[in-house]
Amino acid sequence: MDIKKKDIRALTKEQLRDFFVIEGDQAFRGNQVYEWLWSKGAHSFEDMTNVSKETREMLKSNFVINHIKVDQIQKSSDGTIKNAVRLHDGLIVESVLIPAKNRTTACVSSQVGCSLDCRFCATSRLKRMRNLNPDEIYDQVVVIDKESRLYHNRPLSNIVFMGMGEPLMNYNNVLKAIDKITSPEGLAMSPKRIVVSTSGVPKMIKKMADDEVKFKLAVSLHSAIDEIRTSIMPFNATFPLADLREALEYWYEKTKNRITYEYIVWDGINDTKNDVEALIKFCKFAPSKVNLIEYNPIDDGEFQQANSKAIDMYVDMLEANNITVTVRRSRGKDIDAACGQLANKA
Ligand code: SF4
Repeated sequence: MDIKKKDIRALTKEQLRDFFVIEGDQAFRGNQVYEWLWSKGAHSFEDMTNVSKETREMLKSNFVINHIKVDQIQKSSDGTIKNAVRLHDGLIVESVLIPAKNRTTACVSSQVGCSLDCRFCATSRLKRMRNLNPDEIYDQVVVIDKESRLYHNRPLSNIVFMGMGEPLMNYNNVLKAIDKITSPEGLAMSPKRIVVSTSGVPKMIKKMADDEVKFKLAVSLHSAIDEIRTSIMPFNATFPLADLREALEYWYEKTKNRITYEYIVWDGINDTKNDVEALIKFCKFAPSKVNLIEYNPIDDGEFQQANSKAIDMYVDMLEANNITVTVRRSRGKDIDAACGQLANKA
């Protein structure tokens, strides 16, 4: 690893073209190298076979290519695959391939550790060490796309930012990664197949609306009652539900995109009729749907999934109020790859 040299993939195509012109070469060389880096996924300058040896040496003396490395792959009995991904500075994050009948979803990380402190989440035990850069996010997706083709005979179809970290606390890099994922020079995926899932940072939700992003928004809500939400997601004391609601109304007004609420029902925490009524009221502020997610206890077992009677009550009451609700089974439990379980334990 050479920490003094810049990662060449941090340069835009224009910057790369300018670099070649300054070096006394021609601008089109920048396009050629850019294509190698992104469309062809070159891992080293040696791979760039239509670039002269002299130019490759020149690039090598100026830049590095900091590709991620998959340190360990774990396969679940249900087809889920968890990658422990080593970054150029030795830190590790995790990403997950989740297969379903007609789709493959990549669940990717946006930070090493997390800035927030959700009490039910294994990642919150790891303090935030740094944000991932756009390439490190993009590479996780490329790796999972390859695994999907190899193990499930189809390309990756969907991406969720639900791995380690709060994506809106690393907004600029997440946006740059999504630009690359959706651009024809990258993976050319539709932004409609990408979901950014946030625990709800109001200021950033409004910024996303102002930026007219095309991907989908999900919010980890888990309670529509301030007191309860603060007890499980302490940052709610700083960003209370009234602020979140205002930001979501703003989001819908600007984008006309429905919001998904991710919601776990825990035994003795949010499993009463009162909790469902509060959720129904919250859902009425902007068109939305609710995903009830199965919970996977993390080692101390303080949070336990509510019983099926409580889940049924949620489903019945939400449906009676014309709110779309889906019950999501968690995948990859046997390899600690399910929601809230990512904690570099491999
Ligand atoms: S649930 Fe998400 S935002 Fe909350 S601590 Fe875990 S990774 Fe961070």
